[in-house]
Amino acid sequence: MSEIIRIAVQKSGRLSEDSLNLIRECGIQFNNGTGKLKSEASNFPAEFLFLRDDDIPGYVADGVADIGIIGENVLVETNQPVNLIHRLGFSRCRLSLAIPRGEDYTHLTDLQGKRIATSYPRILSNFLSKNDIQADIHEISGSVEIAPSIGLTDAICDIVSSGSTLMSNGLKEVEVIFRSEAVLIAHSQLSDVRTQLLNKLIFRIKSVQTAQNNKYILLNAPNDAVEHIKSILPGMKSPTIVPLAEEGWCSIHSVIKENDFWEIIDSLREAGAQGILVVPIEKMIL
Ligand code: ATP
Ligand code: MG
Repeated sequence: MSEIIRIAVQKSGRLSEDSLNLIRECGIQFNNGTGKLKSEASNFPAEFLFLRDDDIPGYVADGVADIGIIGENVLVETNQPVNLIHRLGFSRCRLSLAIPRGEDYTHLTDLQGKRIATSYPRILSNFLSKNDIQADIHEISGSVEIAPSIGLTDAICDIVSSGSTLMSNGLKEVEVIFRSEAVLIAHSQLSDVRTQLLNKLIFRIKSVQTAQNNKYILLNAPNDAVEHIKSILPGMKSPTIVPLAEEGWCSIHSVIKENDFWEIIDSLREAGAQGILVVPIEKMIL
């Protein structure tokens, strides 16, 4: 049997949907019916393992899985010997310190000697010792936000995205100690065949990510505005220019960065562009 690459993804939770969407956008098809713990891809030599996120770094370190998708917070906290291969840009969140809303806070030193509840003792203790703060860390595995209200601790350190969970538990965020996003990790010694499969996958992931960061733009312009518009549009090489049926007009096509979008649109309109269309790109190979 020829070799396949085993990919660990979270079974269900905040990483699952975006992880599976990314894999599908990479053109890899598989069946993940409810309750399935394993599934083989039908058009790529890969097998998926659906696991609890906390277990993924360990499985990748042991070689049970070759690669995995995991939050950087869990990767750093579990401290397993695996390689961080590529940042994936989704499941962005931060690990923050929070205290009861009514308490004053001016500086980190306010936490000196305090009790702090967290599920991230390693990241927290590294942060505190780097900042010369001695605090009493209480490791708890879930529902960290209630620790101050039940008198267990004075503060907490937990994952925050919008801050609404903190709010509803009477807490306020006072320091961000770590920023996280989903990352692709790999076993440190993959066979040659599996390394090739990983490289193929990374190539596809980068094409999907590049496409997501760019837009295809089409616009109409009078011929005498073309030179000016060309100088505004960067394009992959240079813009495509095709004549319109109407005499003296042409259509200009190019690719622009999502982030430059609004600025470029204004300059284009000032330069005489009309009928501007901006459309998503599915894949982009540079
Ligand atoms: P499991 O049952 O697999 O152990 P879990 O409950 O530990 O799951 P989730 O809440 O699904 O974990 O979160 C998984 C990862 O998603 C977190 O480790 C973090 O990287 C990221 N994450 C957590 N909360 C958010 C959020 N509110 N927004 C975006 N990403 C988040
Ligand atoms: Mg977990």
